[in-house]
Amino acid sequence: MAPISFYVMAHQDDWQMFRGEQAWIDIQAGGRVVFVYTTAGDAGRTDGWWEAREQGAIACCRLASPGQLKYAVQQFNGHAITVVTCGATASYFLRLPDGNLDNGGYGTPAYGYQSLLQLQLSNKAMTAVDGSAQYTTWHDLCATVQKILSWETANSGNASPWVNCSDYDTTYNPGDHPDHYATGAVVLSFAVEYPVAWWVGYDIANRNPNLPPDQVGMKYRLIFRYNDTMLSETTMNGYPTDEYAQAAGVGYDDKMQKSYFRM
Ligand SMILES: [Zn+2]
Repeated sequence: MAPISFYVMAHQDDWQMFRGEQAWIDIQAGGRVVFVYTTAGDAGRTDGWWEAREQGAIACCRLASPGQLKYAVQQFNGHAITVVTCGATASYFLRLPDGNLDNGGYGTPAYGYQSLLQLQLSNKAMTAVDGSAQYTTWHDLCATVQKILSWETANSGNASPWVNCSDYDTTYNPGDHPDHYATGAVVLSFAVEYPVAWWVGYDIANRNPNLPPDQVGMKYRLIFRYNDTMLSETTMNGYPTDEYAQAAGVGYDDKMQKSYFRM
C-alpha cells in the first residue's frame, strides 16, 4: 500500500517554514501527505486574511503535487471539517481562532478571546472562525484530530505512518507560539499510536544551518509560493501584503537553511 505521512500544525505556513524539506521529500517519494491545520491563522482579522492564508497553504501543495483542486466537507467526531485535496495531498482546515502571540495565547477580541490554550487549560469552548464547528472540551478537539489521522491511516493501509508536529516541550523547543505548543499537545494526547517527529519552531532562527543545499531550495520554493499567493490574495482584498519584502527576508532567511526535530 502507498505510504502516508502527516503534518499537524497551527498555521498555514508552519510546515513550509519548519519542516518543508521533509514534506517535499515525502511527496516526491510518491506517498499521500496529509496536512492538518488546527487554527485559521486569522491574526484576529475578519478581512479575508485567514482565507488568503489557506490559499497560500493550498498553493504550496499544488506546487509540490500538481493536480485538480477539490473541496469537500467531512464529518469527524461530529464536527464538519473542510478538506482540500490536490494531487497526493489532503489539507484539513479546522479554522479555530488564532491564540494571538502578542496576547500570550489568549486570543483576540474579534473572536471573543477564544484560544487553543484556554481550551486546553479550562475547556473554554471554541467555535471555528467560519462557524462550521464548535469544540466544547480539549478532549473533543484531541479526539477529532485523532479521528482524522486514524481515518486516513486506515485508508492508506500503512500501519505506522510518521506524524510531524510542532514540539509541545519548551525545553526542546523554546520561545515558540502558544498555538504551536497547544497543537503539539493535541498530537501528544494520542502520540502513543504513531512515530512522531517533533519539530522546533521559531527557535531554529537561533541555530546553525544544518540542511544540504537541495533541501534549503525545497523550503525556499515552498515559502516563496506561500508568500506570492498571500501577496496576490491580499492585493485582491485591497491591502497588498508582501510579508517577505516587509521583513526584508528576516524571519524567513534565518529559517530556510535549518530543520531541527526530535523523535
Ligand atoms: Zn505558526
